[in-house]
Amino acid sequence: MAKIAFIGLGNMGGPMAANLVKAQHQVTAFDLSAAAVEAAVGHGARKAGSAAEAVKEAEVVVTMLPAGKHVREVYEKDVLPNAAKGALLIDCSTIDVDSARHVGALAEKAGFEMIDAPVSGGVGGATAGTLTFMVGGGDQAFAKAKPILEKMGRNIVHAGASGNGQAAKICNNMILGVSMIAVSEGFMLAKRLGLDAQKLFDVASTSSGQCWSLTNYCPVPGPVPTSPANRDYQAGFTAAMMLKDLLLAQQAANAVGASTPMGAGAAQLFNLFVNSGHAAKDFSGIIRMLDGK
Ligand code: NAD
Repeated sequence: MAKIAFIGLGNMGGPMAANLVKAQHQVTAFDLSAAAVEAAVGHGARKAGSAAEAVKEAEVVVTMLPAGKHVREVYEKDVLPNAAKGALLIDCSTIDVDSARHVGALAEKAGFEMIDAPVSGGVGGATAGTLTFMVGGGDQAFAKAKPILEKMGRNIVHAGASGNGQAAKICNNMILGVSMIAVSEGFMLAKRLGLDAQKLFDVASTSSGQCWSLTNYCPVPGPVPTSPANRDYQAGFTAAMMLKDLLLAQQAANAVGASTPMGAGAAQLFNLFVNSGHAAKDFSGIIRMLDGK
């Protein structure tokens, strides 16, 4: 059993903290939302009045915050000045690589081991404890964090040094955003050419067009009964989240001079989709915009 401070108890952090309690860890919870803290207390966590208070006696600190600016602020103002000596710091938020490396370097300077450990798997995975963690940080920090992460996830991948967890996450999601648009365009063209969607699926899913966006998350209703297309594109993984990750990928690409024209195009199209009132829809719903609907 470890003493764990958990900061950021939203859609993802709430169920993740609950799984740590279930695994017999002593969890002290803080969020700016009093309702989120009360929900965590309902799951067996202890309540802290501030992030600084939460981390004071913790052996492990886990953060699950919206974006880089929140992570920088919470670590600079609350975690690093107040965490107990020897505490292991784990940031699970999805943020820009620069912020992850910046905060990682500050933590190291202050004498802490820290990893960035963004996740995939969504709220369903967070609740079921089946998330995938992509981890950046040193070998020793990874080894210490692994048993904690295993209580919240199933696949724990050490992607390399500080920031590489975030790098793995945004590269994967850039592939996903681009491939979803490619698959959507394929189905749209098929429709215009008089080719049945199921027939295209039967061919492409066993041919070189095969990919996850097609076989697990098909954007047209029918071929994959579990995909959001069968429930009016109820998320799932929201278009707003996809746009966030595509913009992080573009920010990273610009910073290192990588040419990612398809990623840039995907970011533009998802921006259009999100800003035409579809932020909360599943990202595969972009097929309807591409189809002129
Ligand atoms: P959320 O908005 O539901 O939760 C974020 C929580 O952080 C909120 O409860 C908010 O009150 C709290 N918070 C913000 N600033 C704070 C501060 N200074 N101190 C304490 N608490 C603070 O977001 P979420 O869906 O839980 O996502 C969290 C992170 O996980 C994001 O980086 C997101 O990109 C990533 N993510 C989300 C999903 C998903 O499906 N929701 C999937 C993978 C990754």
